[in-house]
Amino acid sequence: MSQSKHIIIVGAGPGGLCAGMLLSQRGFKVSIYDKHPEVGGRNRPIRLDGFTFDTGPTFLLMKGVLDEMFELCGRRSEDYLEFLPLSPMYRLVYDDRQIEVYSDRENMRAELDRVFDEGTAGYEQFLQRERKRFNALYPCITRDYSSLSSFLSADLIKALPWLAFPKSVFANLGRYFTQEKMRLAFCFQSKYLGMSPWECPALFTMLPYLEHEYGIYHVAGGLNRIAAAMAQVVTENGGEIHTSTGVKSLWVEDGVVKGVILDDGSQVRSDETVVNADFAHAMSRLAPAGSLKKYAPEKLQKLDYSCSTFMLYLGLDKCYDLPHHTIVFAKDYRTNISNIFANKTLSADFSFYVQNASVNDPSLAPAGKSALYVLAPMPNNDSGLDWDAHCQSLREQVLDSLGVRLGLADIRDHIECEKIITPGGWERDEYVFKGATFSLAHKFSQMLYWRPHNRFEELDHCYLVGGGTHPGSGLPTIYESARISANMISRKHGAAFADIQHSRWLKQ
Ligand SMILES: Cc1cc2nc3c(=O)[nH]c(=O)nc-3n(C[C@H](O)[C@H](O)[C@H](O)COP(=O)(O)OP(=O)(O)OC[C@H]3O[C@@H](n4cnc5c(N)ncnc54)[C@H](O)[C@@H]3O)c2cc1C
Repeated sequence: MSQSKHIIIVGAGPGGLCAGMLLSQRGFKVSIYDKHPEVGGRNRPIRLDGFTFDTGPTFLLMKGVLDEMFELCGRRSEDYLEFLPLSPMYRLVYDDRQIEVYSDRENMRAELDRVFDEGTAGYEQFLQRERKRFNALYPCITRDYSSLSSFLSADLIKALPWLAFPKSVFANLGRYFTQEKMRLAFCFQSKYLGMSPWECPALFTMLPYLEHEYGIYHVAGGLNRIAAAMAQVVTENGGEIHTSTGVKSLWVEDGVVKGVILDDGSQVRSDETVVNADFAHAMSRLAPAGSLKKYAPEKLQKLDYSCSTFMLYLGLDKCYDLPHHTIVFAKDYRTNISNIFANKTLSADFSFYVQNASVNDPSLAPAGKSALYVLAPMPNNDSGLDWDAHCQSLREQVLDSLGVRLGLADIRDHIECEKIITPGGWERDEYVFKGATFSLAHKFSQMLYWRPHNRFEELDHCYLVGGGTHPGSGLPTIYESARISANMISRKHGAAFADIQHSRWLKQ
């Protein structure tokens, strides 16, 4: 039955590609449109003079979820991608110490003993208790909340005590660790959601837990290869991907999405339309004026959004002895966090993250050279900051910080090529609302039933995938959003599909 049904997907980001892969596997006719010349969205590569960088995602967490998506398409992820487990996972640099973080228990215990003086009992408790929390919450992450009845599920009722409402990640860690610097090692991950650890709900303690339990991965060629592999599956299944083809608007009649209108004015009809473009960008630009109430433009303005990032991608004519991932904490971490989230101002002393993936993956830089990716969290564009005016001074501050905090004092002498993305650039060139790189904030009032639904509540025949819908931002959860929406579409049209209810990779 599904063969005759046409699904249009707006956006070839991770969510759109994963949905395209699942739906084309189930016999739907899939057409994906993306404005950019290459697939991947924020997960696509940047290529500069022989260097390759990932635009956004560099940490692959919960590899098991990605494997499942390929399995559901009758394939093995290993046949498309080469995975490199990272050990150590990353280095954390404080003002007075540094620590290598391992998913391997023995090495991690030894590092905690070396760097902190509170012992490792809290670490053991953290793993045991957070394992229970994650295993209780995982079924809630993988289901749909498009109606109140689906929200009030047995899974969610069982998991309620584990939500730890209204505690924050930082507060929750107090049960395991006493020293603030120790807690920072297990809560900086809130930034993966573009949130402050003092605001991010305690249930997201699952992020450090997942790292420590399952490890993190690099993919040879960069994480952008995942997007390319998914696109390959879509085309192998007969789907079409139209790059450099923007969608001007959704084609809506009487609240029903009939298809899309492309930038060249042509109309393309669909049976269902899946929106992967950044949620608030899409709903403010692609939905015809007056077609939305709950998410009307003035209401979208009032929602809470993640922070943004200043990005510096450097092609260097020298190999630097830096680990694959390094996270450098601002000397005054709390003030930097307040500046990003509450004051929405710049900080002279700021945290940043550096990826030096060419140290493990020579395909990313010419021989004897390094491809360095630097990310500094910044306020989103609610700040009103003029990013073009601040761009060069931020670049200089980042280069100075690489010298002072990481010892790369000579870095300016070795830059062969570079690219910058500011919060303004994320909004202007990458179509990210307010430059909020991690989408809508993940506070309780914007999660689960209260996040824009996978079956979009305001327009018929319209589904959402990507960081702006349930379950939220981050590659594994985005793949889950694709699975949830693809399953809803499949059920609606009677397309048979296998689903994996309880993950085989989950550790009990
Ligand atoms: C700097 C950064 C670092 C990150 N690091 C990690 C990480 O380490 N690990 C992790 O798991 N996650 C990470 N993320 C979060 C998340 O995984 C990525 O942002 C991810 O790419 C979001 O996927 P998405 O499916 O929501 O769509 P996007 O990647 O946002 O793709 C949406 C696509 O829609 C297209 N589009 C928009 N408007 C239109 C239109 N009108 N017509 C046609 N096409 C359109 C865009 O061109 C884009 O290709 C990071 C994000 C950023 C920005």
